[in-house]
Amino acid sequence: MRALVLEDFGRLVVAERDDPTPAPDEVTIRIIATGICGSDIHGYTGENGRRVPGQIMGHETVGVVEALGASVARADLRPGVTVTVNPVILPPEDLDEYAGREQHDPGKRVLGVAPELVSAFAEKIVAPARNVHVLPPTMPALYGALIEPLAVAVNAVRRSGAAPGDAVFVAGGGPIGQSVVLALQMAGITEVIVSEVAPERRDLVEQLGAIVIDPADGAASEAVMTAFGRAADVAIDAVGITETLRGALESTRLGGTVCLVGMGSPLLSLDAFAVSTAERTIVGSFTYTDADFAAAVAWMSQGPAAADALISECVGIDGADAAFGRLCGGGGVPGKILIVLDPAHLSGHTGSTTR
Ligand SMILES: [Zn+2]
Repeated sequence: MRALVLEDFGRLVVAERDDPTPAPDEVTIRIIATGICGSDIHGYTGENGRRVPGQIMGHETVGVVEALGASVARADLRPGVTVTVNPVILPPEDLDEYAGREQHDPGKRVLGVAPELVSAFAEKIVAPARNVHVLPPTMPALYGALIEPLAVAVNAVRRSGAAPGDAVFVAGGGPIGQSVVLALQMAGITEVIVSEVAPERRDLVEQLGAIVIDPADGAASEAVMTAFGRAADVAIDAVGITETLRGALESTRLGGTVCLVGMGSPLLSLDAFAVSTAERTIVGSFTYTDADFAAAVAWMSQGPAAADALISECVGIDGADAAFGRLCGGGGVPGKILIVLDPAHLSGHTGSTTR
């Protein structure tokens, strides 16, 4: 099979690899498409230290079941069905202890991150049957690659405590911020304002139904006041740099909550009194629980029209290195670029934002 190998930082090459064989509890999946995550970009450049040369990345994926390990006995898992994979893989002996908080298991391995796993920028992968979710044939297959980032957002919204009736400020309208807007809508939250520097991303977020502002036009806190007549109850920082965390804190009411989900910088500084005297709570959010992932599967399975806008481009495996290079440079890409491993699906996307 063909796979996209991180040969060195800044260089992806297409290489031949042996087809993976499933362990008894695993499923072999022929990949249709896999989205490029911000964490893959940081892995490509080497700046986050969470990817190593030689590995095959990719964790936002959709594919088709090809074969089942000997002990897989799930009636819904048959060769030919379309599936997505929850990339957070726990050793079976940890499942009970970490039920409902799977991402807290120090023994977890994350597909696309753990270098020893052949991950989803390859024509085939294996994954434990437990981590495989069947998708309906009525759903456009490429939407399956949007489920993982949506699960990240579902967890962030849950961690933030945002509830219907709340006003929410989101810092950043990139792919995480876009998914956060959808996850807020899933949670019944309609008063949402998003701050984003890139005009093409502001256009996309506006299409999703949120109010958008350009941080160059003034303080986010004032824009939130103007839009809602009050400070935000909750802010979600989908960027994670000092400036966005400051904006998130300033935009949130006394006693409000700021959820930090973006990982733009490993070190942030903040105004201590914006937390202490203002009694704001800062919560962290990373990946998702099994239940969050299942919620994202269920919502995307309805084939929501909004999902189409999140896919900006589809490129074949031979165009992957150039696509990564463009995303590194900012690139003017409003939403996701999907690497399409099964060429039959290359023309499958007809979204309005296709370039
Ligand atoms: Zn990701």
